[in-house]
Amino acid sequence: MEEKTYIMIKPDGFEDTAIVKGYIRRAGYQIVAQKKMRLTEAILREHYDFLVDKPFFGDIVEFMTSGPVICMIVEGENAVAGMRTLMGATDPNEAAEGTIRKALAKSKQRNIIHGADSPENAEKEIKRFFPELAAEKRRVYTIKVMDEQI
Ligand code: UDP
Repeated sequence: MEEKTYIMIKPDGFEDTAIVKGYIRRAGYQIVAQKKMRLTEAILREHYDFLVDKPFFGDIVEFMTSGPVICMIVEGENAVAGMRTLMGATDPNEAAEGTIRKALAKSKQRNIIHGADSPENAEKEIKRFFPELAAEKRRVYTIKVMDEQI
């Protein structure tokens, strides 16, 4: 099934943006929207609401606000599950060969990339990180946003 998912290259992956995009495209997916952004604690409290009470949440905020992120809408056949497989396990030590995290991630926290874990969350996250697309009167997914800085 043709699907859209929300993918985000984290601050520790910023320098490797071209490599990460290479993985995504070689797997047959299309990057249909992308932009560079700096996250705030407020958006992280929403995005990682299930982690807010964890002792390491402060570290996550520090890490995720330490530099720019690349927000992307990725489209393709079973893109949500397919991108999760391509990313690899949260902890790079447990990630399979050939995955993005196995190749590039340093630790369970500094793991290069985020990907929505269900179609429902993909939709929520696309709205959260691309609110300007929702404001358009057209269907979100048909719009291409390209940030020339990327
Ligand atoms: N995280 C962390 N320590 C943990 C679990 C998670 O620092 O013990 C961070 C890590 O950056 C991870 C993110 O919180 O990618 C979200 O956690 P989740 O379990 O949803 O993993 P993901 O879906 O990113 O693989």
